[in-house]
Amino acid sequence: MAEHHYWADRMADEIIERVENDPILRPIVEENGYFVYDEKTPSGDIHIGSGRGWVIHDVLAKALRARGKDARFVLSSDDYDPLDKPVKGMPEFDKYLGIPFRNIPSPVPGYKSWADYYFRLATDRFPEWGIEAGLESTGEEYLKGTFDDAIRTVLNNAGKVRAIFERIYDKPYERLPFSPICERCGRIGTTVATHWDPEAELVTYECREDLVKWAKGCGHSGKISPFKGAGKLPWKVEWASKWPSKKVIVETAGKDHFTKGGSRTVAIAIASEVLRYPPPYPSTATEEGPGYEFFNVGGKKMSTSKGVGVSFATITEHIPVKILRFLIVSYKPHSVIDFDPSRQDDLLLLYDRYDTTERVYFGKEESERKQELSRIYELAQTGRVPASMPPQLSLRHAGVIVQIVGDGDDEAIALLQRRGDIPRPLSPEGDAYVRERLAAARTWIREFAPARERFTVQASVSEQARAQLTPAQAQAAHELATLLREGPHTEQQIFDAFYAICERVPIKNTEFFKGVYLLLLGQGWGPKLANLILTLGEERVAALLETA
Ligand SMILES: [Zn+2]
Repeated sequence: MAEHHYWADRMADEIIERVENDPILRPIVEENGYFVYDEKTPSGDIHIGSGRGWVIHDVLAKALRARGKDARFVLSSDDYDPLDKPVKGMPEFDKYLGIPFRNIPSPVPGYKSWADYYFRLATDRFPEWGIEAGLESTGEEYLKGTFDDAIRTVLNNAGKVRAIFERIYDKPYERLPFSPICERCGRIGTTVATHWDPEAELVTYECREDLVKWAKGCGHSGKISPFKGAGKLPWKVEWASKWPSKKVIVETAGKDHFTKGGSRTVAIAIASEVLRYPPPYPSTATEEGPGYEFFNVGGKKMSTSKGVGVSFATITEHIPVKILRFLIVSYKPHSVIDFDPSRQDDLLLLYDRYDTTERVYFGKEESERKQELSRIYELAQTGRVPASMPPQLSLRHAGVIVQIVGDGDDEAIALLQRRGDIPRPLSPEGDAYVRERLAAARTWIREFAPARERFTVQASVSEQARAQLTPAQAQAAHELATLLREGPHTEQQIFDAFYAICERVPIKNTEFFKGVYLLLLGQGWGPKLANLILTLGEERVAALLETA
């Protein structure tokens, strides 16, 4: 097998090798395929950091499929988890504290529940993101009895489970590892199981008023069968129990879960010592392995009012999904992604990196990293990989064009074609590509671009601008106007003329440019001048300069 350079391909090789050498996993995969799994509690708006995890799992499943393996990615909504703190600004939901999210009404009409609303707010975006995932509800799985065997094993081995908690946390763990849903008040966060009868398979429990600070139980006590959704396992035990129950082969998570002594440590101990199941990649029976790193996205404009920072559901209103997916796919999971589109050139450089990767993929640019970059390009696509290289247009140049033209795409495309920046005619795919880049440039200019990238072409030279000019600047402007009237010129000819004029007048280069920008844009700076003049048209520029 050829050596792979791309991280997901290397991980896929490791996963396959592990399965093929494991007598428990091999028959499971033969029957069920490579099951790649992730889970999320739908308690509210979901941060883009979780989105990074979903893209990682999607890419791992795709890398396994690229090896001819039967692999699928499933994301489960942990909707049996209870609401465990008051919702900011929504006191009417306080009465649901302690109730599983799937049994709380949706805050917005048209959804089955609170859980349904917040889960779909994120997952309805999956097609746009190119994330191929099956969706499940952990609550449904409890109700179907998927976890019943694991629940039985856990309760029959409650002493071993307790010992694991006590060993890792070095403090007594007195409860039975199961939380019934109170038959009277429907709360799950307030119940405590006090006794397990393994013959009758019944759990005795109490719904306590003072078990937790954030919710008040009703005082009911009862005896129930723990199966078919009558309750749930505590989180770390549940995590371990899902693995044999769902036959999970791959499941990573954010590195905060992977600290020594954290939830992954407990889960891998329970999976291997109690449930006798090899914990999913990247963990082994004794080692957590690495979780994925944080995805820090800056930019106040993108943050939600609900305090989650930048949300997965809304980030694409600000940054195109293709470039976000590219960003995630191109970074190894154990590298921090620190991205702020309003910081210096973050967004420009990211686009340039995308465009370079595209050129390498289509063989238009040489690179020693061709194999890796080509895989990044393929896996960054949210749909099919283009059959031929799209007409490239850098974000910076697109930004200049949209600031000259304004809102009209057709006019911008006509200008780009006149300049020879893009082919004429455009294929339908090429046309869509250019429009997408123009839209991205408009968002960039509107929301993130630093002042030095912004400008407004003046309809006429203002009194104020004229008053600021030195005699030398005015003379230089007139000389440039005379030259432009003799056009058309090439960009190089105009560029050479700048320096000839500066010597003749004489005037310092910096003063010359400042004066011309002031006349054209009403500010002392702007995009590359020769290119700007050709984009605006030599006649139009000459007309403005002549009024200096
Ligand atoms: Zn109760």
